[in-house]
Amino acid sequence: MPKWNNWSGKVVAQPKQIRTPASEAELSDLLCETDTTDSPVRALGAAHSHSRLVPTPGTLIDLHGISGVVSVDRSAQLAQIRGGTRISDLGLPLRDEGVALLNQGDIDRQSIGGAIATGTHGTGRSLQNLSAGMQSARLVLPSGEIIECSREIEPDLFEVNRIGLGAAGILSEVSLSVRPAYKLQERLWLEDLDHVLERIDELSRASRHLEFFWMPGGQRAACKALEETEADPVYPLAAEGKRLAWSYEVLANHRPDKHSEMEYSVAEQDGPACVRELRKKITQDFPELTWPIEYRTLAADDAWLSTTQNVPTVTISVHQGADQSDEPLFRACEKIFRKYGGRPHWGKVHFLNQADLSSLYPRWLDWWRIRNQWDPKNRMMNDHLARLRPPLMD
Ligand SMILES: Cc1cc2nc3c(=O)[nH]c(=O)nc-3n(C[C@H](O)[C@H](O)[C@H](O)COP(=O)(O)OP(=O)(O)OC[C@H]3O[C@@H](n4cnc5c(N)ncnc54)[C@H](O)[C@@H]3O)c2cc1C
Repeated sequence: MPKWNNWSGKVVAQPKQIRTPASEAELSDLLCETDTTDSPVRALGAAHSHSRLVPTPGTLIDLHGISGVVSVDRSAQLAQIRGGTRISDLGLPLRDEGVALLNQGDIDRQSIGGAIATGTHGTGRSLQNLSAGMQSARLVLPSGEIIECSREIEPDLFEVNRIGLGAAGILSEVSLSVRPAYKLQERLWLEDLDHVLERIDELSRASRHLEFFWMPGGQRAACKALEETEADPVYPLAAEGKRLAWSYEVLANHRPDKHSEMEYSVAEQDGPACVRELRKKITQDFPELTWPIEYRTLAADDAWLSTTQNVPTVTISVHQGADQSDEPLFRACEKIFRKYGGRPHWGKVHFLNQADLSSLYPRWLDWWRIRNQWDPKNRMMNDHLARLRPPLMD
């Protein structure tokens, strides 16, 4: 049996087989072929999730072969993109068409399908997560059937797949909102953490993208702001914090050090208090921690499983080295996040159960009811999802 592990090496699996279809048609054939043996299947993007979403004892479907930009409609500001495309492979072809993604995460190694499936986001008070930009999708259902969905066509299936956790079909192609290509100028500075927390509202309103990192034990935060600019790009690219280039060249960072991560979204106004409590807890109980807390802003959207559903939020992440035990740290921080009504990132570590999630998401039962309709044999379930599924829905 093949062995599989995620990016950090902390999530491992032994699927019966790993298959790599090279087209939507091959993906459809594969799902039909494996359906006869009734074996479970899970989609694999770039293996960058810290949560146990990907593992399956059945067939792992690696989507990297279903890749590329299909077309761009500049007037409608939409790009048609294959689901397995790495975000790092989008910048140039989109710029050749004069457009760019509205925002990106801290790295660009993820696949677009995997990023959408978990609500992956960057930072920016007026900018939503990548899932919110999906306007329609082509899906391959667990039966192998290929289907299109949008707000107008099969709207329930579309809604469930806006943040679908790879549980209700595989995104073979998505139509994603784009905007005219743009350049960004980066600025990095150190500032007393308490001062940053006092003026975080002002800071986050002043820049298109604003984030800060606080290193345990330190007094100061490293703040990073990105502004749109008409200036010419400067090559070779400067170090992080000083770049001036096209958006995709500045938004993506190099993060080679293997780690695991917990991230929660809390309401914007609760962010500073939550960070102060995390700082106190970490300083008292985890003084040896050498990984930063990261603070970003995220605009609200209306996807059923969005951590920002109808609430402008900030996202706060806690990291631990991949060679360290992370559970005591993450459990202690999760208590604080929970106190602020936080919602966990779907692709990062959390310890919530179905009852906790049901209380956080008003449409939780609806999401599961519709998911179950489109996967009646439960082919796209795994152990992690089974623990999250509401009772009486097995
Ligand atoms: C170093 C690092 C930096 C990160 N930075 C950020 C960040 O800045 N912002 C942020 O929000 N997150 C961040 N993440 C988390 C990451 O963006 C998410 O976990 C994302 O889902 C990973 O994408 P992937 O392609 O690797 O998907 P995978 O981890 O391979 O899969 C994730 C989920 O998507 C499903 N899936 C994959 N492809 C498809 C498809 N085509 N159709 C349907 N379902 C599919 C899988 O079944 C699984 O459920 C980071 C992670 C790492 C390791």
